Amino acid sequence: MPKRKRLPISVEDQATVYFRDKWLCKYCRRPVILHLALKWLARLVHSRIAGVDPAYWDDHWRRDKAPLLDELAASVDHKVALSDGGEGYIRLFGTSREAVFRNLGILQEQLLRKGLNLNSSKTKIAEETC
Ligand SMILES: [Zn+2]
Repeated sequence: MPKRKRLPISVEDQATVYFRDKWLCKYCRRPVILHLALKWLARLVHSRIAGVDPAYWDDHWRRDKAPLLDELAASVDHKVALSDGGEGYIRLFGTSREAVFRNLGILQEQLLRKGLNLNSSKTKIAEETC
């Protein structure tokens, strides 16, 4: 089967999902923030204070450059991975804040289809990182 192309999710669609999910991560229920808010804040600080390197924005989302962005910024992911037949409808998206959970969510969906469960491992990781 040919690999399905992932289409970008517009900021408007992302915001719709975040509002629907009440700005809470679907995995750990911690609050999230729109990544663009941190980008605009960094621009404001740069315009007012020369030479400051704020820890909340990096164009490449590098954790060492922007740990607050990596820690707090929301992202939208598919409840069912595209590779498993998931569709790009907003109702099938969910809010998350950690890349590890995004990947675990996809893995969990794949395991559930095979009759396996990842919940105990996922919960343990959430407790260690949150
Ligand atoms: Zn989370």
